[in-house]
Amino acid sequence: MILYEFDYERPIDLEQAASQLRRLGKNARLAAGGTALFPSMRVDNDRPDTIVSLAAMSPEPPKTQPDGSIRIHSLMRLAAIERSPVIEDALPMLARAASVVGSNQIRHMATLGGNLCQDTRCLYLNQKHDYQFKAPCYKRGGEVCFPFPNNAPDVCWSVYMSDIAPALIALDAQAEVIAEGRVRLTSVESLFSGSGMTPLNLAGDEIVRAIIVPAVGKRFGWGYLKSARRGGMEYGVSIMSVALTGEPGRRSCRSARIVVGAIRERPVRVTQAESLLAGSPLADQALARPAAAVAKEISPLPHHGFTRSYIRDDIRVKFARVLRDAVERMSRTDGREGGRNDE
Ligand SMILES: Cc1cc2nc3c(=O)[nH]c(=O)nc-3n(C[C@H](O)[C@H](O)[C@H](O)COP(=O)(O)OP(=O)(O)OC[C@H]3O[C@@H](n4cnc5c(N)ncnc54)[C@H](O)[C@@H]3O)c2cc1C
Ligand code: SF4
Repeated sequence: MILYEFDYERPIDLEQAASQLRRLGKNARLAAGGTALFPSMRVDNDRPDTIVSLAAMSPEPPKTQPDGSIRIHSLMRLAAIERSPVIEDALPMLARAASVVGSNQIRHMATLGGNLCQDTRCLYLNQKHDYQFKAPCYKRGGEVCFPFPNNAPDVCWSVYMSDIAPALIALDAQAEVIAEGRVRLTSVESLFSGSGMTPLNLAGDEIVRAIIVPAVGKRFGWGYLKSARRGGMEYGVSIMSVALTGEPGRRSCRSARIVVGAIRERPVRVTQAESLLAGSPLADQALARPAAAVAKEISPLPHHGFTRSYIRDDIRVKFARVLRDAVERMSRTDGREGGRNDE
């Protein structure tokens, strides 16, 4: 990969990195694993003068906090998340989500923070531009949108593809965000703006330092599926994620969080289907209705050659399976705390 020349900073901790980002302003970019940023620079979508590299730092291992929540450092590599006994035990859905990102090589470099903070994607954007076409699109400061020519100049329908964000939102995770002299806690859900132009609600000098996932209760079950044509090295057609809590006896659902990724500019909470599930029976034959409700409620954007109706149909069929998995895992909890139930 041939890149242009840029300056390189190597801070020793995240606080120093935050100060450097503030000092250097909008021409600096943070690099964690670099697996999303450097390809983006390679195709000229990003052209920072300075890279603030986090390569000198090592993440603290994931920790169970006194309230049972799990704190995970943002620099943790996805391969380490996939194999962490703490995460596998308490948050198997997160371990699963980490395990389906890219390839083994990618997961050994890629970090949790970088995965969440990756840019949206579009077939027209993620190409070498002088090779593919000449005119830049709206997102690159040009005057055209190739796949959606009727869009206004401020509307970009590129798609947010993280495999991990939907799982974290289903688990109601929080993000600890730092900048020079300040720290804030925000839900992972509210990290995303919904705009394809600027998909993250993060200032240029802000860094995600940690993710905190609350303890799941009793009678908890999860389902997760990355729908893709191949088993690896591929972005998803969609990412389906559900976290269910059952009533005592587990015959009906108390509450549900349903999140679908890779269908819009941000991960999508499917709230009407969540309400439909709450209080509903969890018998096998009753799951087709909420699955159909999910497919009906969402409004997927076509992406990577998949049409809107293909994505919707794919979700309708596969989401019933995701729900069945969640109910089955819930039935195996046997009264123990929810995440620690299987596999
Ligand atoms: C071949 C290939 C296949 C891929 N397949 C997948 C896939 O299947 N699923 C998927 O989700 N992704 C995929 N990716 C994208 C990418 O590899 C992953 O999302 C990865 O987790 C990004 O992490 P990173 O540490 O390498 O991020 P980086 O490239 O270092 O950073 C990505 C962006 O996040 C910002 N950033 C990094 N860390 C932080 C932080 N702590 N706080 C604030 N901002 C931060 C950077 O400034 C940059 O803008 C793929 C990439 C490649 C090259
Ligand atoms: S959807 Fe966005 S990234 Fe894709 S061509 Fe249109 S403006 Fe560019």
